[in-house]
Amino acid sequence: MPAPTDASAALFARARAVTPGGVNSPVRAFDAVGGTPRFIRSARGAWLTDVDGNDYVDLICSWGPMLLGHAHPEVQAAVQAAVACGSSYGTPTEPEVELAEEIVARTPVERVRFVSSGTEATMSAIRLARGATGRDVVVKFAGCYHGHVDSLLASAGSGLATFAVPGTPGVPESSTALTLVLPYNDRAAVEKAFADHGDRIACLVTEAAPGNMGMVPPEPGFNAFLAETCRAHGALFVSDEVMTGFRASRTGQWGLDGAVEGWVPDLVTFGKVMGGGFPAAAFGGRADLMAHLAPEGRVYQAGTLSGNPVATTAGLTTLRLATDEVYDHLTRAGDTVKAAVGEALNAAGVPHTVQSSGTMFSVFFTEGPVRDFEDASRQDVAAYAAFFHAMLDGGVHLPPSAYEGWFLSAAHDDRAIGTVLDALPAAARAAAAASEDAR
Ligand SMILES: *Cc1c(COP(=O)(O)O)cnc(C)c1O
Repeated sequence: MPAPTDASAALFARARAVTPGGVNSPVRAFDAVGGTPRFIRSARGAWLTDVDGNDYVDLICSWGPMLLGHAHPEVQAAVQAAVACGSSYGTPTEPEVELAEEIVARTPVERVRFVSSGTEATMSAIRLARGATGRDVVVKFAGCYHGHVDSLLASAGSGLATFAVPGTPGVPESSTALTLVLPYNDRAAVEKAFADHGDRIACLVTEAAPGNMGMVPPEPGFNAFLAETCRAHGALFVSDEVMTGFRASRTGQWGLDGAVEGWVPDLVTFGKVMGGGFPAAAFGGRADLMAHLAPEGRVYQAGTLSGNPVATTAGLTTLRLATDEVYDHLTRAGDTVKAAVGEALNAAGVPHTVQSSGTMFSVFFTEGPVRDFEDASRQDVAAYAAFFHAMLDGGVHLPPSAYEGWFLSAAHDDRAIGTVLDALPAAARAAAAASEDAR
């Protein structure tokens, strides 16, 4: 039975009167699935409670950050203690040093600089790559999201290895004229781009394992190939681990491929989990490269709230609690959900494929494999919308878009997972009915 949504609807109406689309980030508006976004009043563990008093198992987890679940008592206590001392000083503090040490210990980066969002992290990493190499061209992949950086909101030009065009109004052609957009997992396209423009390429930036078109794992050896191609041409390999960092595994996506295969990205960006639910992000890399940053070097970069003591305390506490047991739990819970989704969608005859990298996964409403954005775009979004709303009615809040990962946390216990499993069969039937309607 659909839950009451009067209070959310009333807030959404007020929100729309004062905020474009009623939301502060577009996907929250439910445009891709229709209906009224749920305004959340509180959250604990695996559960969200909306302003109408409905409870939902949360499969968004703030789009990744809430690795330990909501309102984790130890994270809350550490944050309360930090904020009791003051909230921002504009001077260096101890938690920044400790969080940087933790990140350096868990990842291949030797130096790290804090910023406030993943967008800022990739924007700054690209500036640093250009400053350090003295080159100007940036290579990215279609379907990879790196935040709303002008030069990366780009769509492929008319042919492979031609320069990109703006992906949104408001981005001037001059901002994307130095960006090359290639299909993901396509070695030949990368080889051609470097053959044509190699001596001008400052860096190639890629999601370490793309999660922003749904999970599209790098094919075996693809990241190693990118790292090697960059090295051969004097370009930098920028691995965006804003989503995968400290989530795909204890050491991020790099722990799943680079650490095993023996290569290291030149620069890495982080966000989401490392902020523990607060605005904190970072970029880091080789010491000699990071030395180009002000005040050590000449590449300018700064931020009033960068390394904020409350945010870095939340991130530090989260990472210290993100033990092997947490990742083992995410693996087991993910395996249970993936198997059950596959079973339910198979039983209902809904074409789909489930893909993962480490502990991260997503469900595509199309036959697989999904290797790149073009494959992902074949999804039956009407089927997903029906599935999404049936899950919501069953007390499960999925991401309101077919192009997103499904996020679990250490707090997703048997009761939460049981609620997901119970909701799946009806949602699969709703998806099947919606795709028949479309035919
Ligand atoms: C979320 C995300 C970003 C942007 O981070 P914001 O904090 O939203 O600016 C960048 N890159 C990747 C891979 C992301 O998933």
